[in-house]
Amino acid sequence: MHLQPHEIPFSITLDSSQTGTIITLPFSLPPTAVRLDWKLIQGPKAPYVIDLGLKDSARIRGWSGGTRTEATLSLSQATPGYLAGGFPGGPWGLLVGLYRLPLGPTTIRIIVTWYEFIPQRLRGDLHTHTVHSDGVWTIDQLFEEAASIGLDFVATTDHNTASQNLGVSRDPATSIIQIPGMEWTTYHGHASILGLEDPLADWRVNDAQEMGQRLAELKQNGAIVSVNHPFDEFQPGLTWNWGDRGLGFMEVWNGPWRPANQRALDHWQQRLSDGAQVVALGGSDTHGPSDIVHLGEPTNWVWTDSPTTAGLLQGISQGHLYITRDAGGPELSMQSGPFQMGDRTTTPNPDIAIELDGIEIGDRIRLISDQGAEYEASAKTENWSLTHQARGRRFIRLEVHRYSALWDYWMPLLIGNPIYFGGGPTS
Ligand SMILES: [Zn+2]
Repeated sequence: MHLQPHEIPFSITLDSSQTGTIITLPFSLPPTAVRLDWKLIQGPKAPYVIDLGLKDSARIRGWSGGTRTEATLSLSQATPGYLAGGFPGGPWGLLVGLYRLPLGPTTIRIIVTWYEFIPQRLRGDLHTHTVHSDGVWTIDQLFEEAASIGLDFVATTDHNTASQNLGVSRDPATSIIQIPGMEWTTYHGHASILGLEDPLADWRVNDAQEMGQRLAELKQNGAIVSVNHPFDEFQPGLTWNWGDRGLGFMEVWNGPWRPANQRALDHWQQRLSDGAQVVALGGSDTHGPSDIVHLGEPTNWVWTDSPTTAGLLQGISQGHLYITRDAGGPELSMQSGPFQMGDRTTTPNPDIAIELDGIEIGDRIRLISDQGAEYEASAKTENWSLTHQARGRRFIRLEVHRYSALWDYWMPLLIGNPIYFGGGPTS
């Protein structure tokens, strides 16, 4: 995650006559702030003491007395004694308690550094299991693993339970953003429910009518429901047999690329070509350490205005994302004017500007519409760009493939969600 730092230096001279008061050094923050550090650069030497703390526009956010010379707080983590959480825009203040000052003037210097979140793509895995169902990692172990491979968020999707979402740590070891989830596991197919901490008080489904009732309840509560590994015949019950039901989300890439994923990709392409609007998602389905299935493989790159669960859920629900084989990229930008992947534009025959970064020579780039492959190229450098005009198409999306000598097969490296054209979805 990239954050833009901004420094505010304070230098003030105090007089011993102020001893016994708490003064405020005011500054203001915009609502885009997501982290703040302060550091005492110069202060009185022992036995003289100043106390330090912090306030936001509504309340005191922390107090460390004379114990600390620096502290930090962010949306999810804070130095003990400080409160992690949201950053209300407006007036803030450093609190300076003048406990014991030497006679005469004393100069203190403190630097406040606040960090701004600029809209960007965050990386994460949308399908994981822990000790809360049949996985082996605790939530903390899962998040530490996620942080170590560069992920920003993880959806916790244990089978038919919500306990993985309800025991959130007040003192997290990582800054991983948790998306509460559940893998709704029926004997006739699985679906991820994202965005609700306790999605279904009763998740059992025995027939199509009960499925309809549960889906209506989830829709009313604002959940994202995505069919998982819809064509997996690895074990009975994994294949989705409840119909499309207008869910609007599908896991087209589950764990390592294999024929079941190709069938999901082909099915998605058919649904899009028929005029449906369906967001493609990826998930590793990791259950712990494994030689085959790895956390972050694949990785979702979700565009968000804020590094929060709410921001990510909005990006996912709008389809503002693409999927790559792992967290290493490549990076894709695909815009049609103000519209990006997942959006719909009614502009006739619009230009689409595409930029890829971090590919390898020989990678195959493919633009795909409802008419099939629109354009193909072989990468000559690690960057590639194109302005393409869509004429009378329902959608345009991009895939990148890389040759695997091991499997003698061109494997997907990246699958992007479409930009849609024309009026609303037709099915
Ligand atoms: Zn599953």
